[in-house]
Amino acid sequence: MSSPLPTIGDWATFEELTEIQDALIPSVLGRAANAPHYAESWRRGCNQPRTLEDFRALPPTSKSDLATSYPFELLAVPRAELDSYFESSGSSGAPTPAYYCASDWQDLTDRFARKTFGITGSDVVFVRSPYALGMAAHLVARTAQSAGATAIAGDNRSSLMPFTRVVRVLRELDVTLTWSNPTDCLLWAATAAAAGLDPKVDFPSLRALFVGGEPLSPARRQRISGIWGVPVIDEYGCSELGSLAGRCEADRLHLWADRVKGEVLDQATGQIRRDGEGELVLTPLHLRAMPLVRYNVEDLVRLSYEDCACGWKLPIIEVLGRSAQGYPVKGRAVTQLDVEQVVFSLPPELGVMFWRSRAELDQLVVQVESSASPALVAGKLLSGIREHLGVPSSVDVVPEGTLVPSELLLDPAQSRKPRSLYGPGESWDDAVVFGRGRAA
Ligand SMILES: [Zn+2]
Repeated sequence: MSSPLPTIGDWATFEELTEIQDALIPSVLGRAANAPHYAESWRRGCNQPRTLEDFRALPPTSKSDLATSYPFELLAVPRAELDSYFESSGSSGAPTPAYYCASDWQDLTDRFARKTFGITGSDVVFVRSPYALGMAAHLVARTAQSAGATAIAGDNRSSLMPFTRVVRVLRELDVTLTWSNPTDCLLWAATAAAAGLDPKVDFPSLRALFVGGEPLSPARRQRISGIWGVPVIDEYGCSELGSLAGRCEADRLHLWADRVKGEVLDQATGQIRRDGEGELVLTPLHLRAMPLVRYNVEDLVRLSYEDCACGWKLPIIEVLGRSAQGYPVKGRAVTQLDVEQVVFSLPPELGVMFWRSRAELDQLVVQVESSASPALVAGKLLSGIREHLGVPSSVDVVPEGTLVPSELLLDPAQSRKPRSLYGPGESWDDAVVFGRGRAA
């Protein structure tokens, strides 16, 4: 049977939090033993792990384990008990399953609802992530509905929901909260502006923008917030486990460690540690349908146990992202987040929202859209890159509409996930985000 779900405040110290986690490990292992994937691999090792000690000796479950377990090798409850099935596809394109039974949803919606900017019964929540096989959209909608709010299925990368329609819905249906990736918030702003609307003035019902699904630098978060005039609340999660971390009143991201145990895998030594920097390894303590054990989500993070002004006794997580290693420029690794932080630190009046960059071996090439003086924008960006990244760069300032053509904002087929930094051997035309080269 599942244990009662803890709520923040049930423990007073990090030691008590660890006790809550440790007490659940034997039941997590017991549930996992019902999944063919674990049963099989533990049988081969002649050792069914049962105790905390046993747990500490287990290797991580990898993304490729998930892919080879497609579709139901990780299922630990009878098929008839399944409430929902989702999947995502990794870089190899292989489907990675995620499924939940009805009782899992209490844990999932609880965790997503843990926001300083709470969802109330009078909220109108616009859900803008893909509904087809994707978990996040359903998670947000179900959380909103369980709080008594109205959920609007906005979808994404769907021909039914061009940006103009998004802007119309946001405005005319008095949307109070939105869920999307951060880039979408910029695209809506550009669409609104193209329609003669001011995001800050013409959407008076809007209270906050909930965002996730992309690494987000502090400067970009602040810029989006400035454009819309409301807080931007970011969130970290994955399809296989739901919401993993949320932002507190003191502006730090905390891991929901009472529900999902977090550890870090040191790639250099292969050791799994309680804190520090490494790949995030997660064990959901309450999920029943797909009870993953030490699942490596392959995101580079920094996990630390320190007191936070918010009072939550939950570890602080900094998400460095999957591409945290970046590309070398003059021997120095440059990441998308690094470049993003510099670009969005430009003064807001320069109006830079869209950009792309390419890390070449001897310089960083950056293109930005702006209607301000090209010399002014380039000068500020070159010095920002020199100061903060310490690498040589060339900056090309192009007119608005070059990277994000206005046709795109009216285009019904937006099919690609945004990306802004490419490696030296990659074509930045082909993959461009904002329009050209889209898959048919
Ligand atoms: Zn905090």
